[in-house]
Amino acid sequence: MRIQEQASLQPFNTFHLEAKASTLYELESIDDLLQVLPTTSNIRILGGGSNVLLTHDVQGDVWLNRIKGIEVVEEQDDYVRVKFASGEVWHDCVRWALDHNYGGIENLSLIPGTIGAAPMQNIGAYGVELKDVFYCLEAIHLVTKERRIFSHEACAFGYRESVFKHDLKQQYFICSVTLELKKNPIIRTDYGSIQEELQRLGYQKPYSIQQVSEAVIQIRSSKLPDPNDIGNAGSFFKNPVITQDHFQTIQQQHPEIPSYPASVGVKVPAAWLIEHCGWKGFREGDYGVHAKQALVLVNYGQSNGLDIFKLSERIILSVKERFGIELQREVNIW
Ligand code: FAD
Ligand code: NAP
Repeated sequence: MRIQEQASLQPFNTFHLEAKASTLYELESIDDLLQVLPTTSNIRILGGGSNVLLTHDVQGDVWLNRIKGIEVVEEQDDYVRVKFASGEVWHDCVRWALDHNYGGIENLSLIPGTIGAAPMQNIGAYGVELKDVFYCLEAIHLVTKERRIFSHEACAFGYRESVFKHDLKQQYFICSVTLELKKNPIIRTDYGSIQEELQRLGYQKPYSIQQVSEAVIQIRSSKLPDPNDIGNAGSFFKNPVITQDHFQTIQQQHPEIPSYPASVGVKVPAAWLIEHCGWKGFREGDYGVHAKQALVLVNYGQSNGLDIFKLSERIILSVKERFGIELQREVNIW
């Protein structure tokens, strides 16, 4: 296990923001974890650093999760349950599933980060969420050291939400995540431009999970800013869900506003709201709003987390004033 004092976290977050950790522990096994658990305090956990905004130095210990391992724990005629160690890279898990012809996570191809962070916000894309394939996870309490299995229900998954972002915030280290993957999966191509992309690639029905994954990768690579080129953490805000009445009031002034039905109310793309407040492409110094994707805040080089946080406050305020909707941040603020 590598241990570093006064370590720079810049290489470990996709915004490429500079902040220091008092001590950085690079965990490569559960043994490493058990070794550091009694001696560390004030712990923060980092996976791929693709959903955090570092606004200041961390006065405490940061655990960098690099714990690997993939194990099939149950196999039936129609599904397998696979336990992934939490430091596995999410897209490597998708690739593993595709190589074994197990379906369910192909629409979630190319999401950055680790599998241990995936339950935190119930990652989702192209009509599929982690909760659709989630079976259980194992976690360890950072103070009591108690090990606990969380069922689907105990995780309280919601839209980009889970119990780990609320009641149990920063209380557990997620050690492994077990997914139930299908041998004969239902292919989902009804969302966004997947169908168009499959046709453009020359594929015909019935589509395979590998073809769906390829289409998703193509779309994502063409639309989203690559953090290797411009620092970002994907969507900075969640898409708000508002009441039908509220939506109709906005629609009277803006008949072109896009919307999607939600379980209660109407989901409105935050990117549309932000763009209509004039923020798309905004740049001040080295921080701003991406020119092609208004939901993505960016660090062009030497920005700091506080400036990006303040920009997010200004955006929230202007959307609130113009549309009466209070945007919620999706990114975790440190
Ligand atoms: P980190 O940023 O390292 O951590 C995020 C939070 O989880 C932190 O609070 C951290 O303390 C906590 N955490 C991490 N690991 C553990 C653990 N083992 N135990 C307990 N707590 C832990 N998200 C989507 O949902 N859908 C998308 O389509 C999507 N696309 C993206 C595209 C881009 C270009 C980028 C940069 C981000 C995107 N994201 C997306 C956001 C992000 O990739 C996901 O939220 C991802 O799951 C974060 O994983 P991570 O390992 O990088 O988490
Ligand atoms: P898009 O396809 O241009 O759609 C814009 C927004 O409209 C999305 O945020 C999506 O909401 C919603 N939407 C589109 N079609 C929908 C449908 N059929 N039913 C319900 N909602 C629909 O979005 P995009 O920016 O290119 O992203 C594509 C997918 O990748 C989305 O699912 C998005 O969430 C995901 N993504 C997430 C992040 C992140 O950091 N969280 C970053 C990039 C992409 P949803 O977001 O609820 O799906």
